[in-house]
Amino acid sequence: MKLILASNNKNKLLEFREILAGTGIEVIPQSEAGCNFEVDETGETFEENAFLKAEAAMKATGLPAVSDDSGLEVDALGGAPGVHSARYTGNHDDSDLDRRLFLMKNLEGEEHRTARFVSAICCVFPNGDVLNARGTCEGSIATYMAGENGFGYDAMFIPEGGSRTMGEMSHEEKNLISHRGRALREFARILKEYCNADK
Ligand code: IMP
Repeated sequence: MKLILASNNKNKLLEFREILAGTGIEVIPQSEAGCNFEVDETGETFEENAFLKAEAAMKATGLPAVSDDSGLEVDALGGAPGVHSARYTGNHDDSDLDRRLFLMKNLEGEEHRTARFVSAICCVFPNGDVLNARGTCEGSIATYMAGENGFGYDAMFIPEGGSRTMGEMSHEEKNLISHRGRALREFARILKEYCNADK
């Protein structure tokens, strides 16, 4: 089944394709379907924002669309940056490195550094049907940055039970334990059920 990916983020596209390989789900970036817009992420939850993005891409293309809204919840910061992870510094033009430096500064001297990545996947069909899946990955925020792989906060996030940051992991290692890996495998399962129920 072909799904429009409601995102302009190349890293997300790559991870969607790697994680969904072999499931029969093919994701087409929204830019290839002629949409380059960014939706205002006005929701208060990952699920609300994921729905806004998928619904907008579905309406613009007339095709089933899937989205990921994701972010980092840091316990010592009351769950911040959360749904604001992509614009944590307040300036959308800042880089991932700027955001990591800002997080590092906000956690200076903090010993309690537990955190989790969250991914909410939403798929909206032209008939109005909606499928949702969520995945989380528990871990902690390092006091340093390490690793060139991945994107966003990967270079500062150490998954629970490990000693390396996600930025130091191969794509395969990250996808096995990541929030997006977990959410997308659950999504592939419920999409299969949904398609079979139609028959
Ligand atoms: P959004 O879902 O486009 O609103 O942005 C999610 C933001 O959360 C990204 O820009 C990253 O800063 C962060 N994020 C989400 N998933 C990951 C990940 O797998 N690794 C590192 N950072 C992530």
